[in-house]
Amino acid sequence: MPFPLDVRTLFLIGAFACLLCGVMLVTSRRLHRASTAGMNWAAAAEFCVGSAMGLIALRGTIPDVASIIVANTLGPAGALCAYECVRRLMQRPAGTRAVAWMIGAIFLVQCLMGTDLDKHGARLILTSVVQGGAALASVPLLARRLAIDPTTPLRWAIGFALVFGLLHVARLVFTATAGVSVGSDGMIAGNPAHVAIIATFTLAPVVFAMAIIALVNGRLAAELRKLATTDELTGLHTRRSFVARASELMDRTRDAGRATALLMLDVDRFKRINDSHGHTIGDRVLAHFAATVRRTVPKGSVVGRYGGEEFCVMLACESIADALSVARRVNAEVRDSPFQDSERTVPLTVSIGLSGPADGDDLRQLLVAADRRVYLAKAMGRDRVIADDPDPLRAPATSTEQVLLGI
Ligand code: GH3
Ligand code: MG
Ligand code: MG
Repeated sequence: MPFPLDVRTLFLIGAFACLLCGVMLVTSRRLHRASTAGMNWAAAAEFCVGSAMGLIALRGTIPDVASIIVANTLGPAGALCAYECVRRLMQRPAGTRAVAWMIGAIFLVQCLMGTDLDKHGARLILTSVVQGGAALASVPLLARRLAIDPTTPLRWAIGFALVFGLLHVARLVFTATAGVSVGSDGMIAGNPAHVAIIATFTLAPVVFAMAIIALVNGRLAAELRKLATTDELTGLHTRRSFVARASELMDRTRDAGRATALLMLDVDRFKRINDSHGHTIGDRVLAHFAATVRRTVPKGSVVGRYGGEEFCVMLACESIADALSVARRVNAEVRDSPFQDSERTVPLTVSIGLSGPADGDDLRQLLVAADRRVYLAKAMGRDRVIADDPDPLRAPATSTEQVLLGI
């Protein structure tokens, strides 16, 4: 059964598809700053391939130099631009010069072949080698990224590059073995397999553009997620993210029949550190403090920056005594790990309020209780852990030391 569309129509459809995809890529190239160069190359690929298809569709009505030599240069040029697009999106160094040289070389070979339609087989082989080669060469680049960042758009992109590359290999084998016949109008004729492959090529620019947009969107979403959930200075959870993760941990541990405890930490006299060493050093001290806390608490704990120099840790534990020993360890570790650089040593201490199941079932109650105890720790002289409230029935002046678990 003959293919329902003739080759000229297919190329015309492909040219329009490329043009529209190119415009879409150009208009959305600022979507994600770090991907703009990749998007530019993707748009260039669409415009090259679209122009090639348009010129081929006009074969016979425009000079052969344009519809044969230029068209057969622009097709492979588009594939090279697409490969450079993938390289840029995978943060590889710019290969603009190499792309320009290769396009120049392809143009030269096309010029040497001239406009003789008898050379169509050789022309197709050259095109398929470059286009299939570029697609298959993108696969390992994408696969390497997939190993560290296993996302669906990346899997799609790999699938597309593989199918597109293998189609060209099939066309290559087909052309080399069965040859290719050209009609009196200069278009490939007669062989339905060739026509079917060309039909898939008209769709390829659309799938390519979709894969690129999906890749860039995926990266943008991941970055936004990271921005919203990670504190830039310390790398810990932001307050919002801490609340979400800590609540999840509470639910999970409750289901597993274990307890959770909350540590609220406030760096002691931090304002003085800023005043005597400057805000920049203050920032580095905060990052150092955060790292000390993170490495001291048990694995799986949720650690967040709750405010300026206030931090929270939610941890799963067997009993409140367990959590108390973690809090004491953090308190001691902070004291034993002053911030140091080549010019200064900045001693650090922290006041910690601890709350647990006895203070309530939900996170808000734990936060209120822990916050109250941080203030008590400050009032009692700082650099300590408070895990309980003073007994209101006893006189505060005489019994505070006995009732509070002050260290
Ligand atoms: P206390 O022992 O009572 O907690 O004393 P403090 O000085 O730590 O507490 P205070 O609340 O008076 O001051 C906190 C300081 O933390 C004030 C603020 O400028 C500083 N700060 C908050 N966020 C940042 C930050 O991101 N970077 C730096 N460098 N300083 C910060
Ligand atoms: Mg504070
Ligand atoms: Mg403080």
